Amino acid sequence: MGKYKVETSNAEETMALAEKLVSLLKPGDVLTLEGDLGAGKTTFTKGIASGLAIKRTLSSPTFTIIKEYEGIMPLYHMDVYRLEDSDEDIGFDEYFNGNGITVVEWAQFIEDYLPVERLNITIKYLDEQSRVIEFDPIGEHFEQVVKGL
Ligand code: ADP
Ligand code: MG
Repeated sequence: MGKYKVETSNAEETMALAEKLVSLLKPGDVLTLEGDLGAGKTTFTKGIASGLAIKRTLSSPTFTIIKEYEGIMPLYHMDVYRLEDSDEDIGFDEYFNGNGITVVEWAQFIEDYLPVERLNITIKYLDEQSRVIEFDPIGEHFEQVVKGL
């Protein structure tokens, strides 16, 4: 299966797309988010949080690397930007094998630790309000997820 692309015309549409995605996910699923600073990775993750009925405000975990939220399922939100120049394993497997949804911003920096089966998502900046969101599923489960979008 090839990549599936969606264009969104504002932040709300990006969040709505992420909410729809959540309805197709199951505990233990791992999503990676790539895209330049300001592309919309955290905005997309806010949509995931909303889809999981998480009440707490989601904020970027750049300095803490991992933040956990309680919702319909737990959300493990990682921003591993700070790990660019290290290959430190801070116990990623516990999250990847856990009962929640893991979302990893800047996932390319921990490539070696990522599970093989995952949904890779790339956000590309088009203009101030528009983005292209590209879904690249790895494994049967995530192919089904993307077909459901
Ligand atoms: P990142 O986490 O990739 O650095 P953020 O999500 O923090 O990016 O910031 C993206 C910014 O772009 C937010 O201010 C958001 O409101 C804005 N934005 C405008 N249009 C879009 C869109 N279509 N999708 C996502 N974000 C958008
Ligand atoms: Mg961010």
